[in-house]
Amino acid sequence: MTTPEANCIFCKIVRGEIPAKKIYDDAEVIAFHDIRPQAPVHLLVVPKVHIATLYDAGAAHQAALGKMLAIAGRLAREAGAADGFRTIINNGRVGHQEVYHVHMHVLGGPAPLGPMLQKQR
Ligand code: AMP
Ligand code: ZN
Repeated sequence: MTTPEANCIFCKIVRGEIPAKKIYDDAEVIAFHDIRPQAPVHLLVVPKVHIATLYDAGAAHQAALGKMLAIAGRLAREAGAADGFRTIINNGRVGHQEVYHVHMHVLGGPAPLGPMLQKQR
């Protein structure tokens, strides 16, 4: 039987099975540069434990999820986004989630980012 963790790309990065441009690593959280950056600064902050979406998160994950927010500013600043940044967590089909292991995008300039959402047609 295979677990979701076995084939999950971010679990593979956590386990060191595939490379990533890592910028942060502790017992609970890892952060690395997005492979297809959509802004001059585009980081991904990822809990080491496999959580598919925030629908699947619970009390047991509070420390890791809290840490993701707590380190975001420092990581953004260190990556060169010292004048503002945006965090995004996509969830499920409507959220256009591609990788089903919770991750927080950290996006920064130097120029201001576009509007938060494209206008609905
Ligand atoms: P999301 O739509 O929120 O699930 O975004 C998934 C993000 O993961 C995208 O921005 C991808 O470019 C990024 N991504 C996918 N594979 C890798 C990888 N191996 N290393 C770094 N970033 C990745
Ligand atoms: Zn995973």
